[in-house]
Amino acid sequence: MTFGLSTGYGSTTFKHTLDGFGIYQPASGDPIVFDPSQTTLGYTNWFNQIDTVVLAMVPTDFVVNSDTAEIGFKSKSFNIPLRATVHVEFLNRYRIGIGYSFEFTKVGDFEPIKYGKDIHSYSSDVSSFFLKKYFLMLGASVYRYDYYLLTLDANIGGYGLGKDFDKSQITKGMFFNLGATVEREMSEYFRLFVRPSYDIKSYELNVPETGQSIQHKFNAFYFNIGLSYRFPELKRCFQKQCKAQINHAHGNKEYRSRVHPFYKKQNPHTGENYPELIKYKGKNKRKLNPY
Ligand SMILES: [Zn+2]
Repeated sequence: MTFGLSTGYGSTTFKHTLDGFGIYQPASGDPIVFDPSQTTLGYTNWFNQIDTVVLAMVPTDFVVNSDTAEIGFKSKSFNIPLRATVHVEFLNRYRIGIGYSFEFTKVGDFEPIKYGKDIHSYSSDVSSFFLKKYFLMLGASVYRYDYYLLTLDANIGGYGLGKDFDKSQITKGMFFNLGATVEREMSEYFRLFVRPSYDIKSYELNVPETGQSIQHKFNAFYFNIGLSYRFPELKRCFQKQCKAQINHAHGNKEYRSRVHPFYKKQNPHTGENYPELIKYKGKNKRKLNPY
């Protein structure tokens, strides 16, 4: 069983189109979304919950309807993930496990997709939130070079958006994350890794008065760096004085070395606590005949 922990950086783009709606831009202030069939009702929030306002359009102000153009908003935002996984490896190639990722998510201003000169940017009341993901992890190692191992893996699961998002009006989908994990084996138990990945996910926010909903996509690119530790199958040797550096037997049972640190590479035949002979170390280096 292997435990992994990582952090890194995520670049999320929130994006939604307003099919079936229009955008009204008052002379000053934030843009207002409306349903063309009921132009006296406006929406001042359509991201995390629905907030309404009585709308009285001034004819000289800018208005655009979704049947004349694709309208909507997008926001370049970022995440700081903290991700933990537990998995098992089998047949020397495959891995299966579960994971959890806790992500500080900063929500940037939403810029209009079109009509950037006429429509102001929109800033959400939610300037940041914590995204929580829980997932199943499936992977297959495809390439090994020396101490490096490349594994392609998928994380599939659900997520939570936190209390700022109106659960009663939001329908969430699953999220799909595809990644490539490059691991550097530091020892048989300890590895360092990097994992670039791409996340696909969206939710629907229902707009009650209209019978319509708005789909919010928030796909993301991540770059995680982390470490993993494989719990040893063998018990540590029980004899306090034992200095064996490698896996060895006492009686008819095999044990793990007491003296070998878990993070150090180990040669299965000799152990590698002191790979350099003492006669070539320190001041002995310069001696012509060290012994
Ligand atoms: Zn022993």
